Amino acid sequence: MKKSVVCMAALAALSMSAATAAAQTKSGVDKLYILNCGEGVAGDISRWSPGVNVGKSMDFVDNCYLIHHAQGWFLWDTGLADAIAAMPNGQAPPDPRMTHWRRPKTLASQLDALGVKPADIKYMAVSHTHPDHVGNVEMFPQTMLLVQKAEYEWPGANGAPRFKPEHPATKLQGDHDVFGDGSITILSTPGHTPGHQSLLVKLPKTGALVLSGDAVHFKSNWENRGVPSGNTDKEQTVASMQRIADLLTKEKAQLWINHDKAQRDTLKMAPEFYE
Ligand SMILES: [Zn+2]
Repeated sequence: MKKSVVCMAALAALSMSAATAAAQTKSGVDKLYILNCGEGVAGDISRWSPGVNVGKSMDFVDNCYLIHHAQGWFLWDTGLADAIAAMPNGQAPPDPRMTHWRRPKTLASQLDALGVKPADIKYMAVSHTHPDHVGNVEMFPQTMLLVQKAEYEWPGANGAPRFKPEHPATKLQGDHDVFGDGSITILSTPGHTPGHQSLLVKLPKTGALVLSGDAVHFKSNWENRGVPSGNTDKEQTVASMQRIADLLTKEKAQLWINHDKAQRDTLKMAPEFYE
C-alpha cells in the first residue's frame, strides 16, 4: 500500500515536470524573414546624434520583418511606400540632411515570392508613423493593426489622422504579448514619437532579438545615446534606450537596428530566414 502511494507520487511528479518542459519549449514562432523595405543615403547623420559626425552622410537601410507563428503571420513595420520603387531617382527628402530613399524591391513582390498573401497576415504592428515605416499599411486592409493609443491619436499634418479610421486597430497602452505565449512582445519605447514601440522576438534557435524600430538609428547613435533633433521627447528617448539596454541583458538578446546598413549587411535577407 505504502509503496504504491510513493510510486503514484513519483509518477505525478514526473508527468508534471514533463508538462513544464513542454510549456517551456512551446514557442509558437518558427521563422523570421528580413525584407528589404528601402535603401537610402542620409545627408547628415548629426541629425540623429547632435554634435557627432556633423555633415557626414551614411548609407541607410529600411527593413520590414515577417514572422511566422503557429497561429498566423505577423508583420513588423511596412517600410517605404511601394510606389517609390517606380521612381527612377527615388524620393528626395524635403531637407537634404534627411534621407534620400529608394525602393529596389517592393514589399508586395517579396511577400509574393514567399507565397504569402496580404490577407494571410493576421496581425501587423508598426514601430511608429513616420513614412518609412507606415508606407504600406493599406496593403493589408483586413489585418489587425497593433499600435499604441498615443501614436494612433497623435495628430498628423493639419490634424489629419495617422491611420484610416476603418482599418481594424487595437490601441495599446504599454507592452503587449501578441500571441499570448511570450514569443512576440511589443515593447512601449516612446520618445522618437509619442507612441513609438519596439519588438521582442524569441526564436527557438536564434534566441531573443529586439527589433529597434527607430528607438535608435545606427550603432554609434546607440553607443553615444544620441537623441535625434526631431524626436518628440528627449527624456523618454533616453529612458527607452536604457529600457532596451536592460532588456538585452535580461533576455540575452541581440539588438537589430532597423536603419543600420553595416549591421544588416551581416544578416540573411529573405528568402533566407532565421529560426
Ligand atoms: Zn522615424
